[in-house]
Amino acid sequence: MNTLEYVPVPAFADNYIWLVSDGRDAVAVDPGEAAPVRAYLAERGWRLSAILLTHHHADHVGGVAELIGDTPIPVYGPAAEGIALVTHPLSGGDHVRLSLPHLELDVIDVPGHTRGHIAYFQPGGADASPHVFCGDTLFACGCGRLFEGTPAQMLASLDKLAALPGETRVHCAHEYTLSNIRFALACDPENAELRAWRDQAAALRERNVPTLPTTIAHERAVNPFLRAEAPALQRALGEQLHESISDRLQSFTLMREWKNRFR
Ligand code: ZN
Ligand code: FE
Repeated sequence: MNTLEYVPVPAFADNYIWLVSDGRDAVAVDPGEAAPVRAYLAERGWRLSAILLTHHHADHVGGVAELIGDTPIPVYGPAAEGIALVTHPLSGGDHVRLSLPHLELDVIDVPGHTRGHIAYFQPGGADASPHVFCGDTLFACGCGRLFEGTPAQMLASLDKLAALPGETRVHCAHEYTLSNIRFALACDPENAELRAWRDQAAALRERNVPTLPTTIAHERAVNPFLRAEAPALQRALGEQLHESISDRLQSFTLMREWKNRFR
């Protein structure tokens, strides 16, 4: 089995374009701009062989036209979002098999941030961790805004991701971790693992090191949006918002709304 490298290429103010490579060929996930991808490929001597898209937002698809300009390569993306440059439309339950680099991916429907948002899950093997590319659905200590979906849809999508194996490496599309942690601490102040993560993440960002990938197990422990049912969280959230919280969807919905106006 070949060893794959997973690299977050920074783009715009806080995007990551993930590249997966076997050392020769590479796949780009959500290339919102072409220039940083091209520069990184040139630096490593990698050849771009395919593009994977999670949703239609410009900061995820804006670089596709330029990247496929010279050599047409397959562009995988959600069937439900009408992205013009997609050559291989996908929806939940589909399977993607790439040969260079060798990648097998299961497609998961994760509506909420956008209506047709998909995630790509790469199951683990004997000597390899599972990986997931989740775009703007799950972030380290946070989740995407609900631009097109409902809180119930997003919660169901996050439940699917949270049910992946704990050791799954989570490749999010933005470096929002520190501001997400500030909000998470307001919702879940007693969470000792979260407080420890705040210090670790701050130290990483001070050195300009990505806080990603995170893992599903870590997110289950520290991400308030995966912990909507936790009694301590519901208690703290209820006190902050002067609400009495009785179920996890209400807890999730209140949290998501609060996050939109949290500074
Ligand atoms: Zn987005
Ligand atoms: Fe985005």
